Amino acid sequence: MEETILKRNFLYLLVPCALCLAALSGCATVPVEQGRPGTGYKPSSICYLNIKKVVIDAGHGGYDPGAIGRTGLKEKDVNLDLAKKLRRLLEDQGVQVVMTRSSDEYVPLSKRVEIANKSHADLFISMHANANRTRSLNGFEIYYVSPSANDPKRAMNAAHNIALNLNPDYFAARSTNLKAILWDMIYTDSRAESIRLARSICRSIDRDSSARVIGVKGANFYVLRGATIPAILVEIGFLSNAAEERLLRSNSYRQQIAVAIVDGLNQYAKSLAMSEEVRK
Ligand SMILES: [Zn+2]
Repeated sequence: MEETILKRNFLYLLVPCALCLAALSGCATVPVEQGRPGTGYKPSSICYLNIKKVVIDAGHGGYDPGAIGRTGLKEKDVNLDLAKKLRRLLEDQGVQVVMTRSSDEYVPLSKRVEIANKSHADLFISMHANANRTRSLNGFEIYYVSPSANDPKRAMNAAHNIALNLNPDYFAARSTNLKAILWDMIYTDSRAESIRLARSICRSIDRDSSARVIGVKGANFYVLRGATIPAILVEIGFLSNAAEERLLRSNSYRQQIAVAIVDGLNQYAKSLAMSEEVRK
């Protein structure tokens, strides 16, 4: 039954970041654990570690530029370039990558949802660049995509509307309350994994790049569908900050960030594999 319950069939979709910072109010920063140099194990391929397919969502696109820096650098272009760099690095490891867009086109939220839901991927990563009225603000941060903790209304809504594929013989299959509890467990598990993934990437960024790491935050994203896979939104830097805009314009800096993100994914996959080994 557990496997059926945890079947990863649903995905959240994220509202693009820079234009929806207001929606990120009430964030609670989760401290980033520092990695210990020299202790990191680097698997040759996360494909062997149960992450076989990843959805990469390049935020904005087409007539929606997202944030725009003072010298004119558009978020949609930075996001797409980063997404393509990530795709190349992951495909080199044998990981299948699904892009919600691979060119400068406007992809509506409904289409992104459709692409993500059809993919049956293991992870969902949305790439964005930040903006803030406080021009001095800079740094790299990750939002994990999950409902707020202890959200009975959401679990009850899921219990009413989303099938769990339970064996009809189980009592839970006929009890909305029990289904709500099961959905709450799934959300909790997904949220925990999203935080773990986000922390792992932040540690790698801190270790492998020159970016300042702000940390990992939870946020109330606009959710169109329930998600049961780790889903994160990466804010690679602030286009509103002159120095960071200059960095984000640099191809080598963007490559450095992409490599560090993939390194974080590798470390996360490794920790997943170790947890599964312990459970055996
Ligand atoms: Zn954005």
